[in-house]
Amino acid sequence: MSIHHILHQVFGYGEFRGPQQAIIEHVVAGGDALVLMPTGGGKSLCYQIPAIARQRAGLGITLVISPLIALMHDQVGALHEAGVSAEFLNSTLSGEQASQVERRLLRGDITLLYAAPERVTTPRFLAQLDSLQERGLLSLFAIDEVHCVSQWGHDFRPEYRALTVLHERYGSVPRVALTATADALTRADILERLQLQEAHQFVSSFDRPNISYTIVEKRDATQQLLRFISSQHRGEAGIVYCQSRKRVEDIANLLCDEGIAALPYHAGLDAKVRQANQDQFLRSEGIVMVATIAFGMGIDKPDVRFVAHLDMPKNIEGYYQETGRAGRDGEAADAWMCYGLQDVVNQRRMIDESPAGEEFKQGLRGKLDALLGLAEATDCRRVRLLAYFGETYGQEAAAAPGRPKQGTAPPGGSAAREVASVGATCQNCDNCLHPPAVWDGTDAARKLLSTIYRVQQMSSISFGAGHLMDILRGKKTDKVLQFGHQSLSTFGIGAGFSEVQLRGVLRQLIAVGAVAVNTQAFNTLQLTDASRAVLKGDVSVQLRASVSSPVERKAKRAGAGAVIKAPAALDTQGHERYVALKAWRAGIAKEHNLPAYVIFHDATLAAIAQRAPQSLDDLQGISGIGAKKLEAYGEEVLHIMASA
Ligand code: ADP
Ligand code: ZN
Repeated sequence: MSIHHILHQVFGYGEFRGPQQAIIEHVVAGGDALVLMPTGGGKSLCYQIPAIARQRAGLGITLVISPLIALMHDQVGALHEAGVSAEFLNSTLSGEQASQVERRLLRGDITLLYAAPERVTTPRFLAQLDSLQERGLLSLFAIDEVHCVSQWGHDFRPEYRALTVLHERYGSVPRVALTATADALTRADILERLQLQEAHQFVSSFDRPNISYTIVEKRDATQQLLRFISSQHRGEAGIVYCQSRKRVEDIANLLCDEGIAALPYHAGLDAKVRQANQDQFLRSEGIVMVATIAFGMGIDKPDVRFVAHLDMPKNIEGYYQETGRAGRDGEAADAWMCYGLQDVVNQRRMIDESPAGEEFKQGLRGKLDALLGLAEATDCRRVRLLAYFGETYGQEAAAAPGRPKQGTAPPGGSAAREVASVGATCQNCDNCLHPPAVWDGTDAARKLLSTIYRVQQMSSISFGAGHLMDILRGKKTDKVLQFGHQSLSTFGIGAGFSEVQLRGVLRQLIAVGAVAVNTQAFNTLQLTDASRAVLKGDVSVQLRASVSSPVERKAKRAGAGAVIKAPAALDTQGHERYVALKAWRAGIAKEHNLPAYVIFHDATLAAIAQRAPQSLDDLQGISGIGAKKLEAYGEEVLHIMASA
């Protein structure tokens, strides 16, 4: 059976997307592959279709290795809905259930088996794989979220390292490894760790055109977040990322107080509560999940309309991975981040205080700098983001065979800065939609640096940002008087600048390394080797003057009209049918204990509502309705069409 046939018959889709066909053909033929595709790009089909094709050819089972025990039930449920034989083995199964799955496994009577790496590498499980292998029933290994193998990935999991046993022990079984993250450094690490150097690399464009990127200056973060959600995303599903568990709890409470349905998620919560909150987020509509980075990997909810960062992440990979969870359905979605001086200081401190070796810390600092460069940018965010992944905006990503190009991406963090001159625009980020006014902060920067210099000269102690700004702006605070800083020649020479402006200058100076934050000593500020160039006037400091308000953005976005919301295209009757279909779907989803989108996507429901099919023939061919779903739900859907 051809792979096209499987795509139509099992999944109900008309066409392959992007590089899917090439990948699937390669893997069906027994080749190894490393697949780099952004979140929502369609990675699952890249191993599910080969698994089905190879099982039908009598080659046996595909083992899917995934770190996400909490999501296996839904992933397998989605395959069952499509009529594919799939199971999982993990600690949520009872002993009896697990033995039943194992018996079927040993008979080779499963198409896809999902398991976590720590189980796969146990002697007991390997013995079962041996038995399958001896009988020619071990068809394929699919290693999902493969960046977990790399310490450079943002989600390192040591148990992934043990997966080397797969190629050492079953060298003849093909492997397909997939991830949505991988800068050059991480990619090289994956290839080496799993000895995938010979694998064909399929690198898709990482662009997510339907996601609009906005980074705003932090003033009153929680109020800014509230305004963002209230004005643009009332009643919609979203994720808010925060740095700490406590902050997660506080923000979730605050949103609830404001009438926004929000739930917390962090590693400190009881596992049962965590699972319940995750299930509710996946199964109900319009929930905002307030979470630490512990949340989100593998979450395939298609209609997440926004991802907000209340605190700055560690690096661009993390940021891009997290924001990528918005808009998997291809509809317009927002990535919004709020960032300030304190974020820079906090992230620097975390690196300084980590027990890692100096070389490793240097790598982390480089990655942080690239993110700071993105946050401070006055030109297109998308151009910079893509450049970080070695891609030039507007050009198709090279389907790079062989090794990744060296030097196209950090840790130097220079890639993001180099492209500033390219000048391309995406028209779907804050800087493109509202080019920020830029002001020359060079003079302010020099005044700031000479204040640091003079203060240090006078008393050989360093001070923090607030105090230095008080001196510059000529404020006679108790502390200023206590240290006699009102007598400094720089006292009051920055009175013409607002505190916001000076904070902007300072942020940028820290970002480019011209000021160092001593995180071991009350975050005091010190000059560095790079300060001299700024002081001498050799380096200019360009800053954004202001950021646009959310209200302005909203108007612009609605006007842009790049993406049509499916239900909006429906007439009144169509809309009624859509509402009736949604209500019906909710009932089925509940009955099957699965998220609604696993039954049918919103887009599929909208297409049905628009076409108002009168027969099964009519219904067939709508994207997302495969043979099994047609058989299981066709009559009911027609019934709704007749009565709505
Ligand atoms: P990823 O794992 O890369 O983040 P998924 O595999 O979850 O992405 O796919 C994202 C969404 O796109 C899913 O809802 C999937 O059903 C859908 N999809 C994937 N391939 C196609 C295709 N060829 N045609 C239509 N929809 C597709
Ligand atoms: Zn842009």
